[in-house]
Amino acid sequence: MQKSKCKPDKNKGEPVISIQGLYKSFGTLDVLKGIDLTVCEGENVAVLGKSGSGKSVLIKIIVGLLKPDKGTLNVLEKEVEELNGKELDELRLRIGFSFQGSALYDSMSVFENLAFPLTMNVKHLTKKEVESAVEEALEAVGLKDKAERMPAELSGGQRKRIGIARALILKPEIMLYDEPTAGLDPITSAEINELINEVQEKYNTSSIIITHDLTCAKNTCNRVVMLVEGKFLPSGKFEELFGTDNQQVKDFFNYNFI
Ligand code: ADP
Ligand code: MG
Repeated sequence: MQKSKCKPDKNKGEPVISIQGLYKSFGTLDVLKGIDLTVCEGENVAVLGKSGSGKSVLIKIIVGLLKPDKGTLNVLEKEVEELNGKELDELRLRIGFSFQGSALYDSMSVFENLAFPLTMNVKHLTKKEVESAVEEALEAVGLKDKAERMPAELSGGQRKRIGIARALILKPEIMLYDEPTAGLDPITSAEINELINEVQEKYNTSSIIITHDLTCAKNTCNRVVMLVEGKFLPSGKFEELFGTDNQQVKDFFNYNFI
């Protein structure tokens, strides 16, 4: 069996995300009910779970867009709850977030969409530096010729790629992908999976990939965790989860293959 990248040997990276006892409710709706998760440097972890199970809430907590009710969250060696606003902004710059549904600004060209996080967050960049950063990010996602296009002129797969390029523009250490293949045909999904792997190699990122696409989890992740009723079932390699006796996991896998 392939060796886990999370094993404590000299090749293993340190934990980049460490979550303990995380709870989150909205009014009477208890979404996360005691989540523990560690992601090590260089690891890609898939978070599976049915719609509404709290996957997006979890990654929004990791990037500080939502506050947990309880629990500790250490990201890139920072205790998130202890950070002030400025420190939280600085931490966010080290995390690339590929949103569910791309979330491009429709009134801006591809170039402007990509340049925006750079010019907002990095002072004193020359025009040339912005141009070369945008070009590099576009090249990484294979869309160098689309800089002047508007988002409406792109296919679904291309929009996802541009969303990923924008998340990469500040060279993040962590990438969070929220449903990267949702709504795409199998061939385009396979291309996005390949891109996620290329990004990890080129940028040496650690990633959480939120998905209910089992092919995506299988082909991009070292480890899979499954969110059921606010808690994670024991994590493992895709094949281990696939062979489990747990009925909820079995149901999830069965429905995926119908
Ligand atoms: P998914 O696993 O499909 O990504 P979400 O994490 O988006 O699910 O949502 C989990 C649950 O939390 C859903 O029932 C959703 O309606 C609820 N929820 C998410 N964000 C909010 C919010 N800001 N306010 C109230 N309820 C929310
Ligand atoms: Mg979601």
